[in-house]
Amino acid sequence: MTAITLVQGDITRQSADAIVNAANSSLLGGGGVDGAIHRRGGPAILAECRELRASRYGKGLPTGQAVATTAGDLDARWVVHTVGPVWSATEDRSGLLASCHREALRVADELGARTVAFPAISTGVYRWPVEDAARIAVDTVRATPTAVEEVRFVLFDDRAYQAFARQLG
Ligand code: ADP
Repeated sequence: MTAITLVQGDITRQSADAIVNAANSSLLGGGGVDGAIHRRGGPAILAECRELRASRYGKGLPTGQAVATTAGDLDARWVVHTVGPVWSATEDRSGLLASCHREALRVADELGARTVAFPAISTGVYRWPVEDAARIAVDTVRATPTAVEEVRFVLFDDRAYQAFARQLG
């Protein structure tokens, strides 16, 4: 049974086996939580991301997929990078957002991670309405068979925290 917990704060300050990054497909860093993870995690993460680009993801990491690197100086063993979909009002991309959560858990299982911290993927620069993102994130984690013992959603602001709290009921 996987426990789902909520924390309001900065994911780069969390202690967990794996920290999930809402990356962009280039894997070369960006703003938001991605920038924060690379800043606090140090250059080792970016160095591994560059190697992944060169070896496996020449065209970038596809939306909805996940891949792990070291966590550098973070208080974690791994960072699991996943690329969320950009919100679209005309196209239903919720399957891709669900896939991010499922794939991140699959990678975490492969690594043997027992505690995994997730940000609210796609709800920043990618503009996904946080209420809907919270529903997809929580429903997907609940529906995914995994050996991960704790999935911790780390929400940066109160609005996101409240949205996830409502989903957990
Ligand atoms: P995306 O491109 O997937 O939308 P963003 O990084 O822009 O990714 O935003 C995703 C979510 O992460 C947003 O809700 C944003 O407020 C939040 N966020 C930004 N910085 C941090 C951080 N240091 N820790 C946790 N969440 C963060």
